[in-house]
Amino acid sequence: MKNSILLFTACLLYVAGFAQKAQDTESSKIYVKPKLVVGIVVDQMRYDYLTRFYNKYGDGGFKRMMDEGFNCKNNHFNYIPTYTAPGHASVYTGTTPANHGIIGNNWYDKENKSSVYCAGDENVTPVGTEDAAGKMSPSRMLTTTFADENRLFTQMEGKTIGISIKDRGAILPAGHTANAAYWFHGKDEGVFISSTYYQEELPKWVTKFNSSKTAKSYLKDWNTLYNIKNYTESGSDLNEFEGGFKGKETATFPYDLKKLSKTNGGFDIIKATPYGNSIVADFAIAAIKGEDLGKDDVTDVLTVSFSSTDYVGHNFGVNSKEVEDTYLRLDQDLERLFKILDSYVGKGEYTVFLTADHGAVDVPSYLHSHNVPAGYFGKDEFKDNLNSFMAKKYGASDLVENISNNQIFLNREKVNQLNLNLGSVQQEIANKLMTFKDVYVAYPATEIGNGGYTDGVQRLFKNGYNQKRSGDVLYQYNPAVISYSKTGSTHGSGLNYDTHVPLLFFGKGIKHGSTLQKTEIIDIAPTISGMLGISFPNGATGQPLEFVLDNK
Ligand SMILES: [Zn+2]
Repeated sequence: MKNSILLFTACLLYVAGFAQKAQDTESSKIYVKPKLVVGIVVDQMRYDYLTRFYNKYGDGGFKRMMDEGFNCKNNHFNYIPTYTAPGHASVYTGTTPANHGIIGNNWYDKENKSSVYCAGDENVTPVGTEDAAGKMSPSRMLTTTFADENRLFTQMEGKTIGISIKDRGAILPAGHTANAAYWFHGKDEGVFISSTYYQEELPKWVTKFNSSKTAKSYLKDWNTLYNIKNYTESGSDLNEFEGGFKGKETATFPYDLKKLSKTNGGFDIIKATPYGNSIVADFAIAAIKGEDLGKDDVTDVLTVSFSSTDYVGHNFGVNSKEVEDTYLRLDQDLERLFKILDSYVGKGEYTVFLTADHGAVDVPSYLHSHNVPAGYFGKDEFKDNLNSFMAKKYGASDLVENISNNQIFLNREKVNQLNLNLGSVQQEIANKLMTFKDVYVAYPATEIGNGGYTDGVQRLFKNGYNQKRSGDVLYQYNPAVISYSKTGSTHGSGLNYDTHVPLLFFGKGIKHGSTLQKTEIIDIAPTISGMLGISFPNGATGQPLEFVLDNK
């Protein structure tokens, strides 16, 4: 008897010890805690910018991320519309406009019957400027970012700082609980500003940065970084597909920014040149030092969005020398940022991911010149045609209340008043839209909302459709057809040129490798959350990319 009790106890101890051991091994795999997570979004960066300019990149920027980290080569947005604000929100919340509610940069607010801005907030006041450009907050975003979850998990000890040229590029990624978000205010000021949503006044390191006249130092000549003759990955400098700056006849190098600033919004001209990215890198470096980011064992989050790539793309187009130069210079800014992270936070102590908020289409007039189907959508003609159709069909000229972001908003009161069935009015309009030569697809919102779509363009519409905020009919133009000026590139569709963007991870907790397996933009936040062992953002619908994580 005694013996069996002893044996039983010994067994228990053995099992307990084993369990303890197992737990130890498991717990070391449960999470990886970098001192700092740096999220980088490059505004309007197509995936092929990594490969197209690969041979001209240095070793310390994009190439370092590819050589040391993990390259998801087939990474896509999984919703329509592919704009800046939905893009940034989706990267950091791990879900789509259907859930986070950021359905555009601006959208028509059905309740107030007016257009609202994604980050506009009348309840806060500017900090660091008197200008209304400071009245911003993330309050229209409905769900949390991984940075929010990190703040909650760490009892608000882990900091979050968001930085960008664009307010929305700084505010949405950093989330609701951020210590601060900073964005660039041009005009005659050239400073980084914030709002009372975060703080009552700018910290010392920011006022010091602003008074250092860094912005002024970038009002200089913009010439190509290397000999323009070697820029063989882009079209000729002088062509008919580029916009350019007011006050300069041709869109050709060099650009005298000091002189051109007078006719192009003062310091705002910096935004539309690679120096906008440089000043964001300068400011991010100042933030790392000023906020002591990554200096203790509680994980901090720094979100950096490089917006100048978008301005340059819109102005000069995907195939321009200006875009090539902007990426070669951004590569150098990244190298500079990573070197500071190495020395200040420590090599292998931080984790970085880099992606984009959307891609961009080649200039349609350029594509057209090479016989690729492409074109421009006549919006005014479309509107007139639709209105006269509605008047004829329903005897009412005010049934369409608003057209924005390729969505048609109906006057719901009028629909009720006329005793019309909402679903059939939506269907009639969709049918009518399909008679336009350059409309590719058009769907009634009720069909998109109710359908269980798991692939194709309907799924993209469904993911982008927010039941409360989106319109009544959703449509998209033909491939490479845009509603835009005849020069420069734009974005917004669910086609590959807009959805296919880079996704690179590197640093602590990241394996070395690459995949051509399809990944989605909404997988990023769950991957970071999974690595950190924290709650996923509350609306996240993406899947952690286990194959990029090294939990050892
Ligand atoms: Zn854009």
